[in-house]
Amino acid sequence: MEILVAIAIVLTIAAIVVPVYRSSISQSKRAACTVNMRQIASAAQMYKRDNDDALPLKMFYDFRPLLSYLVDPALCKCPEDRTRHGVNFQAGAKLGSPVSYISVLTDEPVFMEKLTQLDPNYGLIACVSHGSRRNRTEGPPYLYDYYGPILRSRIDSSVKYVNWTGHCYKKKDGSIEYHRLYWGLFTDVDPPQEVVDLMSANEFERVPCPE
Ligand SMILES: [Zn+2]
Repeated sequence: MEILVAIAIVLTIAAIVVPVYRSSISQSKRAACTVNMRQIASAAQMYKRDNDDALPLKMFYDFRPLLSYLVDPALCKCPEDRTRHGVNFQAGAKLGSPVSYISVLTDEPVFMEKLTQLDPNYGLIACVSHGSRRNRTEGPPYLYDYYGPILRSRIDSSVKYVNWTGHCYKKKDGSIEYHRLYWGLFTDVDPPQEVVDLMSANEFERVPCPE
């Protein structure tokens, strides 16, 4: 009986301590990620300053142009990213080490023009690894497998913890689909129609999300 009581007490304490411990770990990983993101964003700013105010073209696919401004390429990996090659595995393959961070679409003039116009303090890079991940058996983990909170590093060097939310679209067959646009990683401002068209949701009509 005493043993049972002792076990019950230990389990109760564990039930209290483990979640607190877990959340403090995830908080410290978030802090470490914030430091990484600040360094990468300032590397991008330095690159921009040295290159006629232009960010590296195709920054999403290739972080190498930032290397000469970064102390260590290992900064491109978020401590919360548990994937083997990094969530942005395309950039990771080019860099030769994992890349967790997702960059704005510097090779899409419409995207960049609207983003800078509508949100002067837009995000330069985002980290999706702090959210939840949908389980998929095939293929490497993909950006859209993640949902919920993200970290966004903005042009003024601040890092914001936000929810990457989506919008609902009515498909031709009448069904409603919840869809998160890449745009939402970098700003809380609603996407303009030009960007919705660009992100290939143009065949859908945007409708309020069902409760
Ligand atoms: Zn992160």
